Amino acid sequence: MDWFAYRDDGQLYCEDVNLDALAAEVGTPVYIYSRKTFEHHYDSIAGAFAELDPLICYSIKSCGNIHIIRLLAERGAGMDVVSGGELHRAKLAGVDTSKIVYAGVGKTDAEIRAGIEAGIGYFNIESEAEFENISHIAAEMGTPCHGALRVNPDVADPKTHAKTTTGKKETKFGVDIERARQFFEAYGHNEHCRLTAIHLHIGSPIYSPDPYVLAINKALDLIEELRGKGYTIDALDIGGGYAADYETGKSPAYTDYADAIVPLLRGKGLKVILEPGRTIAANAGVLLTRVQYVKTGGSKKFVIVDSGMHHLVRPAMYDAFHFIWPTHLEPNYLPEHRAMEMTHEGLETTDVVGPICETGDVLAKARMMPPVNRGDLLCVFTAGAYGMVMASNYNAMPRPAEVLVDGATATIIRRRETYADLTDAETKIETVRV
Ligand SMILES: *Cc1c(COP(=O)(O)O)cnc(C)c1O
Repeated sequence: MDWFAYRDDGQLYCEDVNLDALAAEVGTPVYIYSRKTFEHHYDSIAGAFAELDPLICYSIKSCGNIHIIRLLAERGAGMDVVSGGELHRAKLAGVDTSKIVYAGVGKTDAEIRAGIEAGIGYFNIESEAEFENISHIAAEMGTPCHGALRVNPDVADPKTHAKTTTGKKETKFGVDIERARQFFEAYGHNEHCRLTAIHLHIGSPIYSPDPYVLAINKALDLIEELRGKGYTIDALDIGGGYAADYETGKSPAYTDYADAIVPLLRGKGLKVILEPGRTIAANAGVLLTRVQYVKTGGSKKFVIVDSGMHHLVRPAMYDAFHFIWPTHLEPNYLPEHRAMEMTHEGLETTDVVGPICETGDVLAKARMMPPVNRGDLLCVFTAGAYGMVMASNYNAMPRPAEVLVDGATATIIRRRETYADLTDAETKIETVRV
């Protein structure tokens, strides 16, 4: 469910804002976010899991503009951060730091110190060496902190891309269940970093509740065993990875996940933590890009646009599908849903490609699309998650602006980068004494 929709005039709107008119004002490429969609997604997942009264820690890495973080925090969200930079963003946005969980395999000393200083809820612990370092730093600072051991339950959704699978034994994340027992024997009574929670995050996107059920059951067995041995475990963080509707109706609803997960966790004396990112952000954002040229090569039609892998890398990196459609249409091309296969009369097989000097710079391959012309505006849907956050300056291209729409109001929440932004960090050079 989102608030990007075509009206009868054949024009695409975000809430009450006409996207052609908006692009004319702010230029392209530009990421457009819908406030109502963010709020609706957050409220829906909170509602589906309400019986557990969970702490919902939005995954900042999916879409981390501080204005987005703030609007979710104002609704009660905590945050899942994976770096000192994300912690910085969360603090700037005014997040209650006790509602922050901090994951990531490579936390540096400075990042750990910043987390302890901020009084975050939990460090998600990824290895023995990391635990020892966190405990050492907490002791040095005289400030105890809390840890959630990231357990690798060895489950995976077969539909999840290999690059985003994290819950298999052979990934770099967490420790396997057997090692978790030894982990608690070694560190379960540590006073500086109190190991009182278990953390899971099995990958993304996960198109079925089943892998969660498997993983949570394994975690519950472990928790029962640990409690039997006298360890206090009062929280279970079940991670993120819930799918988003890249194609209309292809993902489970929040209630499908909740119906399978809630019964496992009710009455277990555990504070439940969720870390959704994609499922909240993906459909809440689109990327608008303008057609620069149309080129026919052999039997192929290339639509060359002013954005590409440098702004939205998912198609190039994960072969990800994003529905792409023009923002203004003849009524016969109105899409009744977003899907890989579209069947309107008169569609043309089209590759949508960017300006980057790489053959892999594609946004869509062999896609059936309405005919488009130079100057037309295309909407890349479901681009809110892992879009702008993964954008780069490759080929010295400034990154897009970001705009947040709220009803009939549009606000630039990140200005378009300039050429000066590209080179500012290079203007002051200094010789290093070694
Ligand atoms: C990336 C990540 C998430 C969020 O994943 P989504 O697929 O965006 O929901 C949650 N927890 C951890 C530890 C992550 O690394």
